[in-house]
Amino acid sequence: MQPPEESRDEAPFAEPSEVVCPFCLRNNAPEASFCAVCGAPLGPVANIDPIQQIHAEGFAFRSAVSSPPRALILAGTWLAMLPLAGSAVGMILSGFPMSLFGIAMLLLAIGVLVRATAHFISRKRALARARKESI
Ligand SMILES: [Zn+2]
Repeated sequence: MQPPEESRDEAPFAEPSEVVCPFCLRNNAPEASFCAVCGAPLGPVANIDPIQQIHAEGFAFRSAVSSPPRALILAGTWLAMLPLAGSAVGMILSGFPMSLFGIAMLLLAIGVLVRATAHFISRKRALARARKESI
């Protein structure tokens, strides 16, 4: 059966006039790679361009240590950092020149995990305290 005439005439992949940020729900220009308001990655360019990909990953880790506590963000941080820490230990065990990179990677992974976890716990406690005081 043929679709109705009207729906075949519409462009199936029309360019959107604006892109809505999934984090702050503000409108952005359709060609924007990052939200102008909150800096969240938008669209596929942030996943393809290596420099913008680094910035997009940085947004995820920054939101783990600065935004309201979310268990999913914390779990994602642990899932991203544990393999990094494991390969860092492997580099340390492989001996000198690579062990220096391994030490730097291990310190980075431990720093991000400690900061994200401490932020999650302290913000959860602060929210629970604020909820108790408001009752
Ligand atoms: Zn935004």
